[in-house]
Amino acid sequence: MEPMSKSSDHIDRTLRTLKKKYVAVHKKRMRPWHAWFMVGIFAGMTAIAGIAANLSGSFEGIFAARLSGAGKSLVTIKGKYSEFYNFPKRFFSEANLSQKKILRVTDAQYLSLKKMHNGIVPYAFARVEYDASVYGATTPQGIKIGDPAFPKLNNGHPRWEVMAHEQGHNFFGGTSAFYYTLAVPGPFLQESLAVLSAFYTYHDIIENSRIYQMDGTMFRSLRYDFDNGRKYQEKQFNAYGIAGTPFNEYDVLTSQALDYKMILFGEKYGWQNYTKVTKAFEDGIAEKFDFHRDGVSGIERSTYVIAVLSAAFAKDFRAEFAELHFPIDDALYGKMYGIIREYINTAEARK
Ligand SMILES: [Zn+2]
Repeated sequence: MEPMSKSSDHIDRTLRTLKKKYVAVHKKRMRPWHAWFMVGIFAGMTAIAGIAANLSGSFEGIFAARLSGAGKSLVTIKGKYSEFYNFPKRFFSEANLSQKKILRVTDAQYLSLKKMHNGIVPYAFARVEYDASVYGATTPQGIKIGDPAFPKLNNGHPRWEVMAHEQGHNFFGGTSAFYYTLAVPGPFLQESLAVLSAFYTYHDIIENSRIYQMDGTMFRSLRYDFDNGRKYQEKQFNAYGIAGTPFNEYDVLTSQALDYKMILFGEKYGWQNYTKVTKAFEDGIAEKFDFHRDGVSGIERSTYVIAVLSAAFAKDFRAEFAELHFPIDDALYGKMYGIIREYINTAEARK
């Protein structure tokens, strides 16, 4: 255990003050959708992992039993860019990786999200806190995870996807008011972009495993967790498609149809394109548009994200999303596309 670095604590506080407004909105409005969604993802993953049989009691009962067993054996461990703060030792004893390796992965996730967002960060150091009953949640300084995300329920692997997903919310939500205008309310963009963030970190880390100092055990642990996560997203995508589900920005299934398309684009055309996608959610681009000034409708939200993806990948994805009956305003798409393309390809200078 190392003492808190005074300077990083100070930077953290300063950043926190600066983005207080965004975080306040973030916490208040995002939570219900997010919590609901994560319960869904948890149910999906446990089914895939084949451990549903272990969850015979109510969630509350299981958590209470685990919590009483946790006692006071808490520990704070710090990496370069992340820490587990006042965290049950049990988490680490359940894991099949050493504390040092776990921190190296959470450090890598932080750095990878920073790369995805072109250096724009919500905080200089990510704190992982414990909250027994949550699966995953955001805090102003980082994230919280609880008993359902412990390694014991994941074959000894930390829930890497959950951790990156939660931080993914913060990297969008803690850095941009324009993101709020576009993404709130509803899970459509909030959840799809958080899922995307997690998968971006996975691919970025394994593609650059030497830079992130990943060894075989870390790589295999990430792969285990993200393979299951991908299967779950694919299943949800198929459920959306097979049922002929109508587009509904308040329905998580619609956001999952979008996130799975984004995973496929990353796999097919390259994950580095997502460093351009994030630019289209920065505050700097907001003033170039008028559509959002009277609020953002479903068709505007849908058209915007399709224009962003098309501009970032230099491909017209409208037909693919029309197949999923995502609404598209072609005139608006044309205007958005030009502005986004210009902005994301010259944004380097604004950094
Ligand atoms: Zn989420």
